[in-house]
Amino acid sequence: MNATKQAARKSAAKKRAAPARGAKPSAAAVRNMNELMAYAYALEIEAAERYAEFADAMETHNNRAVEELFRKLARIEHKHAEQILEEMGWTAPPSSPIGGYQWQGLEGPETADFATLHYLMQPYHALEIALLNEKRAFEFFSGLARRATTDKVKRAAKEMAEEEAEHVRLIEDWMKKVPRPEPQWDVDLDPPRYVD
Ligand code: ZN
Repeated sequence: MNATKQAARKSAAKKRAAPARGAKPSAAAVRNMNELMAYAYALEIEAAERYAEFADAMETHNNRAVEELFRKLARIEHKHAEQILEEMGWTAPPSSPIGGYQWQGLEGPETADFATLHYLMQPYHALEIALLNEKRAFEFFSGLARRATTDKVKRAAKEMAEEEAEHVRLIEDWMKKVPRPEPQWDVDLDPPRYVD
């Protein structure tokens, strides 16, 4: 059965419309621990790299507060990636599976889209982005747990999903500690002027 048929059957069975991102499987079922952890590693490292890029973008716009926050997020994700190497006893990053990682979209589930950036954005917005990423990572590992073909992989994927759920809670707590943006946060009262 192809992915479209499968998705159609799924949504018919479920009655309620499935979210667009859930319409096709996010990753082929992983067959063993090495594959699972290679996915986990790739997800974290991709997220770390994107947050670092976001921080650079904010630096260009002199948005120091958000730059700092993205740097912090990049460090956290990088640490997760390192922990995976350590846990697995890997001395080098795992090679990607044949045919590449089968993400649901073009990128990993914890990788934020550039379109979410705004030069006037506030720490709260950055955390909103992080929250969405953590939720997607949770769904990703939950999906892998559901499709796992061995108990060991199922258990490990569930554990990863639980970790991501913990990240969701951490970000939610963090959001309570930063000011909520005013409704007109994106109106620039002092727009950049170009004098010739
Ligand atoms: Zn996470």
